[in-house]
Amino acid sequence: MAGWPTYCARCGGPAIALVEAGHPGTGHYRAETTCHRHTRAAHRWASAVGPTRTIPIGPTQAALFELPEVTR
Ligand SMILES: [Zn+2]
Repeated sequence: MAGWPTYCARCGGPAIALVEAGHPGTGHYRAETTCHRHTRAAHRWASAVGPTRTIPIGPTQAALFELPEVTR
């Protein structure tokens, strides 16, 4: 689970959620990070293996990711 990208899998923009469906390890599992723009496309893609779930990526979760330090 560690090292999930926080960028949209489709456009590389900032991801707002992880869309997943199915069950890991069964061969019927799809998950991808998505930005606001591509959420619908991600659901359509993931729904091929079952009902989709949305896991929001917020400031709290983002802290768990390995992010480069940004200084402004
Ligand atoms: Zn996108």
